[in-house]
Amino acid sequence: MAFTEHGALLYEGKAKQVYAAAEPGHVRIHFKDDATAFNGEKRASVRGKGEVNARISARLFAEVEAAGVPTHFRRALGPRDHLCLAVDIVPIEVVVRNRAAGSFCRRFGRPEGEALARPLVELFYKSDALGDPPMADEHALLFGWACAWELAYLRDAALRVNACLQSFWGGHGIELVDFKLEFGRAGAGRLLLADEITPDGSRLWDRATGARLDKDVFRRDLGDLGATYQALLARVFGDPA
Ligand code: C5P
Repeated sequence: MAFTEHGALLYEGKAKQVYAAAEPGHVRIHFKDDATAFNGEKRASVRGKGEVNARISARLFAEVEAAGVPTHFRRALGPRDHLCLAVDIVPIEVVVRNRAAGSFCRRFGRPEGEALARPLVELFYKSDALGDPPMADEHALLFGWACAWELAYLRDAALRVNACLQSFWGGHGIELVDFKLEFGRAGAGRLLLADEITPDGSRLWDRATGARLDKDVFRRDLGDLGATYQALLARVFGDPA
């Protein structure tokens, strides 16, 4: 079957590979088992991680689409591949925070877990070489990374995605602390939510126990990332066992 065959490898990231797809204008995104942290300084292979991320991301893209935010996701191709519209990724990482955690605590001296009075959108310039520095809208306008309407759209769409995901995770007893989104251009004047929405790029805390259910388990050596992700998958899709 054509869609499951490997086309040319177009791009390889830390946790994903992007292949040409049989359908024109589309790509096949393959989720790897590789886990990395601290801009690639810490690495491991976590068996089954790619499949968990592919399944969760597919589900969350469907939720977000249903909430009115268009995405690049078209459909799953097997357990760890997505068929997606080809886009030009905007070089801006859009982070939404509901509570203080991670780099926000380090930059502003806030205690981890502090609830924010309203969701905060932060922008980072997407550059591994520079360690994804925080940026303002003016940097994007000055350096041509995005124009004014695109910046307004990123912020508005990110907040709508946040409302949708808070409701989804909340329904599973999980607190959405923060997450990162990427967007892509698909023709003139059309921005789509792209990349992935996964526990690799989100902070998810168990509301009852405070347990970390995301990649912080790997970053901070809090336990077994593979087991954590399998338990999260079972919680989202029902335990297959
Ligand atoms: O590190 P920081 O606290 O800024 O991360 C905020 C959120 O964005 C976290 O959920 C983290 O997993 C995600 N993130 C990401 N990729 C990056 C930076 C942050 O997925 N390069």
